[in-house]
Amino acid sequence: MRALTIFLTAGAVALAAGCQTVETTKGGTVGVDRQQRMAVSSEEVNAGAQKAYSQMMAEAQKKNALDRDAAQVQRVKNIVSRLVPQTATFRPDAAKWPWEVHVVSLDDVNAWCMPAGKMAVYTGLINKLHPSDDELAAVMGHEIAHALREHSREQISQQMGTQAAIGIAGALFGVGELGQGIGNMVADVTLNKPKSRTHETEADRIGVELAARAGYDPHAAVSLWEKMMKLGGSQPPQWLSTHPSNESRIADLKTYSERVMPLYQSAKGSSAATGR
Ligand SMILES: [Zn+2]
Repeated sequence: MRALTIFLTAGAVALAAGCQTVETTKGGTVGVDRQQRMAVSSEEVNAGAQKAYSQMMAEAQKKNALDRDAAQVQRVKNIVSRLVPQTATFRPDAAKWPWEVHVVSLDDVNAWCMPAGKMAVYTGLINKLHPSDDELAAVMGHEIAHALREHSREQISQQMGTQAAIGIAGALFGVGELGQGIGNMVADVTLNKPKSRTHETEADRIGVELAARAGYDPHAAVSLWEKMMKLGGSQPPQWLSTHPSNESRIADLKTYSERVMPLYQSAKGSSAATGR
């Protein structure tokens, strides 16, 4: 009875907060299995992301900063097109997402993937890090993993919790609780808000598995990170300030890239057989 009461109370609290606990992905070989609390639906977030992404890419196009180098764009697209089918390991619905990637002329060492698979790579990342294909696959695998795990939806859910808490003051001052549309919130968490250490670690682990399954050497995540640290001297990449401490991150990437090596080897074996 007591258990039932607690259960009902917890349910009532969750309902009051409009929250639900979900598992966005299956564990895969790397075994990411944390449950997530969401206060907003995937549909809302994905629709917002698509709107924000179209606007941002149209804006980049207007400034002549979109897909300037056809060979560069083709290279990025090839890598993404090998990674995307591997998402099925973690969630079968992702194959049907409206995946899209563009190369944006910006000097920052950055790349991102919005909800529902809307991606961007900045020329700064390509020109400053000179990544190999394996390393670029490590970057894109990591960013895709953020989307699979719906980390933006989770961040927005957390923000909504905070906003509800300040809602009374907001009402007093005539400030709308959710003054900005969900698309703006998605853009904001993608471009501006640091990700938590938990989110980064999950994206690292799922990212190396995606890369390995696509036939990219998962160890490239380690060499990529070492390159980023070197670059950090004069121009700290945006990532360095927000990501887990470098040493523990590299140690974790080494462990998990080793764990997915058999996947890489069998992907390489089958691609040799088919002549890819
Ligand atoms: Zn990340």
